[in-house]
Amino acid sequence: MAGDSVKAICSACGEKSFLKRVPKYDGFKKVGELLKCAACGHEFAAESEAPAPLKPRPSIFDESDAPRAIRVFDEDEKGRLCRYCRHFIVNPFTQRCGRHQKVVEATDSCSDFEASSSGMER
Ligand SMILES: [Zn+2]
Repeated sequence: MAGDSVKAICSACGEKSFLKRVPKYDGFKKVGELLKCAACGHEFAAESEAPAPLKPRPSIFDESDAPRAIRVFDEDEKGRLCRYCRHFIVNPFTQRCGRHQKVVEATDSCSDFEASSSGMER
C-alpha cells in the first residue's frame, strides 16, 4: 500500500528517503511497528523517534469525525433470527439453540439458520 511508507529525511544517513513501516515482533507476538529507512536500513524503534515526514499527514480523517456505521437489519438478516429457526427451543427458563447446544436470544441471528418448517406462526 502506498500509504505504508513515509517520505522523510533520515536522521541516521541524512538522505531524503522513504521510511517503511515494518512489524516489530517480540518473539512471535507482534508488539507494534517500527520505521525503517529505505536508504540505509536504520530502524527507528518508535514512530516518535523517526524524523518528521516531509509532508504533514492530512488531519481531515480524524477518527472522531468518521461516520459511525449504522447497523440496519435488512430483510435477510431479519429472516435469520433464532426465533424463526427450527433449532430454536424455548423452555420456561432459557432459549436454546438445539443445533449448537447453547443458550441464545430470540433476536440472535445465526449462520446455520434453518427456517422453521413446522408452519409455526410468526
Ligand atoms: Zn537512513
